[in-house]
Amino acid sequence: MLGRKKKIYEPIWRFIEVQTEHGTRFSIGKIQLQCPTCGSSLVGGYGTHKRTRNEKITRVENFQCKNKDCVHLKAYKIPRQFVLTTSYQFQALIAVKLQNFYEDLMIEGTRQNALAKKYGISEAQVSALRFELEKAIDALHRLDALVVKRQPDSAIAIDETFLKIEGVSIYVILATGYQSRKTIGVKVSKTRSEGDIRAVFDEAEKNTVNGIDTVTSDALNATQSTVKNLGKEITHIIHPHKRPYDKAVIKHYRYEENERITTVVGVPTDFCKTRGKRLFRVLETRTNLTPKIKKKRGRPIGSTKKSKKNKPKKSQGPKKKRGRKGLFSVFTKGKIHYATIDPYRKTVKITKGSSSTVAAALNATLFIYALMSIQNNLAENINSFIRVVMRLTGPKTVEFAERRVRATLKIRNCPELLQNVKISRTMRGEFLLNNLKFIDCAELKEMGVIM
Ligand SMILES: [Zn+2]
Repeated sequence: MLGRKKKIYEPIWRFIEVQTEHGTRFSIGKIQLQCPTCGSSLVGGYGTHKRTRNEKITRVENFQCKNKDCVHLKAYKIPRQFVLTTSYQFQALIAVKLQNFYEDLMIEGTRQNALAKKYGISEAQVSALRFELEKAIDALHRLDALVVKRQPDSAIAIDETFLKIEGVSIYVILATGYQSRKTIGVKVSKTRSEGDIRAVFDEAEKNTVNGIDTVTSDALNATQSTVKNLGKEITHIIHPHKRPYDKAVIKHYRYEENERITTVVGVPTDFCKTRGKRLFRVLETRTNLTPKIKKKRGRPIGSTKKSKKNKPKKSQGPKKKRGRKGLFSVFTKGKIHYATIDPYRKTVKITKGSSSTVAAALNATLFIYALMSIQNNLAENINSFIRVVMRLTGPKTVEFAERRVRATLKIRNCPELLQNVKISRTMRGEFLLNNLKFIDCAELKEMGVIM
């Protein structure tokens, strides 16, 4: 056979030099160079690159992938080129280290000073790294979007927790999807008004494929008004934080012409726990939603009669109770009905006389709480996680808190985002090059890439 002899590429190894904060440089070992695109160790030297750092011009060695089947060649004519810090092994190690760091920081909520100690960097660097990561996530995908794509959820849990910032309580209101188990709506606010809850509901709804037809929550009035005023058919399962926690109230809203029909169903919290016949109570109310014409104040024009303002009132027996009607009144005033529940097959059979609306409300409840007691079963872990996250230092504003909570929830929702962030961003810029202490020798040795 004629022609040029096939060139054999020896594996290439290079020292990794670490520079500390104070500028001391030392080597922590050698790694083998592999193509960052295909992972092949068929690589060769390819001159040098000019690099300017701290106004000093240095030259760094450049390499080229020699693998003829490299994926890179499918899109480009020229083989993949890289330098030590963009090589496969190096990137992979950094990725692992950053993943651990980010999990400690954002998910475990480890204190900043403890993190600084663990990773051998200063507290300022911890917060700078956090900022870098948040910026990278932001650049990759809008920070205000909690999920990358719409979720299959039709039922959500609305829950709130509070944090103290500079002595002021701020609320974190969350909507968690029952199917996806992701947080699909969030708001950080100094209040927990109907408007705040509505904003969370609206965000959650936008993040689903088919919209939301069931909400679970505690008995907070603002949440009750939000669901009531949505103007669409919906089931609201309320589990009041009230001892002995044995009652739950299901409210179903539907609309007919100008009327809202509210069906209130009172059930024991263990309604869906086991198979059997259960008693429940039902109250139905109709509300005319036609806007009322306000009566003019004062004396009608032309009338000379003075108002009978100060006429003493006749006593009308016992004083009427003021305020909102008790949520539990269904348990005393509601009509008694029975249902046969099978939480294994997720079926509800109601006795004659119950409406299809009641059946719909009970089905929605069983769908979520089969074999469980009706209570908050979704958001508890999120509450505790938000508390640890908020331990971290930073500007004490509602905006900052919301930004941080969103970034954290987003990574929890879509951990794969972090993967992309790391590969594309990590090694750019001086920042991480100054933090190469992340790579500890033991791990490199374990992986067999250090000599
Ligand atoms: Zn390659």
